[in-house]
Amino acid sequence: MDHLSKSIRNLTNRPDFKDRYNNIKKQVLNNAEVQAFLSKHSSEIEEGMIDRSLVKLLEFINQSKNCQDCPSLSECKNILEGYHPRLVIQGKIIDLQYDKCPTKETYDERKKHESLIKSMYIPRDILGASFEQIEVEIDEPSRFKAISLAQDFVEQYNSGMSPKGLYLYGSFGVGKTYILGALANELASHKVSSMLVYVPEFMRELKGSFQNSTSLDEKLDAVKKIPVLMLDDIGAESMSSWVRDDILGTILQYRMLENLPTFFSSNFNLKQLQHHLAVSQRGEEEPVKAARIMERIKHMAIPIELSGRNRRD
Ligand code: ADP
Ligand code: MG
Repeated sequence: MDHLSKSIRNLTNRPDFKDRYNNIKKQVLNNAEVQAFLSKHSSEIEEGMIDRSLVKLLEFINQSKNCQDCPSLSECKNILEGYHPRLVIQGKIIDLQYDKCPTKETYDERKKHESLIKSMYIPRDILGASFEQIEVEIDEPSRFKAISLAQDFVEQYNSGMSPKGLYLYGSFGVGKTYILGALANELASHKVSSMLVYVPEFMRELKGSFQNSTSLDEKLDAVKKIPVLMLDDIGAESMSSWVRDDILGTILQYRMLENLPTFFSSNFNLKQLQHHLAVSQRGEEEPVKAARIMERIKHMAIPIELSGRNRRD
């Protein structure tokens, strides 16, 4: 040990090293943030503390702080991506503590938000919808009504009530799915988890996993139990008694008993949906079973017709 400290002393005494060292020290002490820290803590700064902490101080001035000049999280140049250093006094040295930077805070918040919205087969633009950005034209009272009821829902749900969902129906492109997407985002900003499911594709996929009962049960379970469910485009799936009774019936029965809110969107009004549910693709008619599903839907959701122009045009 003695031998080592002696050789370090020899090294620091070498003129070229000494020059370099003094240069670094000057650079460090010229840094505005370091100066501010030293003056703020002047009563705690002891003799030799700066020399002992020079490596830390140098690390501090070389790391980016508060995301200045940092274009994105993936381009973060700091030792720990998304963390920036802060100077602290730690016993006899000045040390660094790394805190989450603003860019990482925002990124993590967004991830958390996204993780609250589950979706199946829903286009990206819909998942970015929001009530703030939603366009409502003066001659679209039904859109006003739908949006304001959706917002009432969020408010009531947050205050611990069990409000009904909505059954949004109307022609293709009027923005039914878009409103459901905005609702999912609004719920996520209140930390409520929801799931937006495009029904035709979901049913197709369930049929595909018919042989694999574990994956079928898992998918069905996720949809049954999500706090807020949105069944998008119900009525566009090809109907069979299995889809109606074993899938839709099971989901709605569970959610009704558990008081879990459910939203629907459809090109059909309730009467047309009832007809769709009654007739299977093979032409069999089962009006009683269709009526049973309709009972549940009417119990769970307020029907609203959405009219207006086709936003896809
Ligand atoms: P629907 O589900 O009724 O068939 P969508 O919700 O898919 O219709 O809307 C069709 C297209 O119009 C989508 O690309 C959507 O992003 C856009 N859109 C719908 N409603 C609005 C709105 N109020 N403001 C802006 N864009 C909208
Ligand atoms: Mg749609």
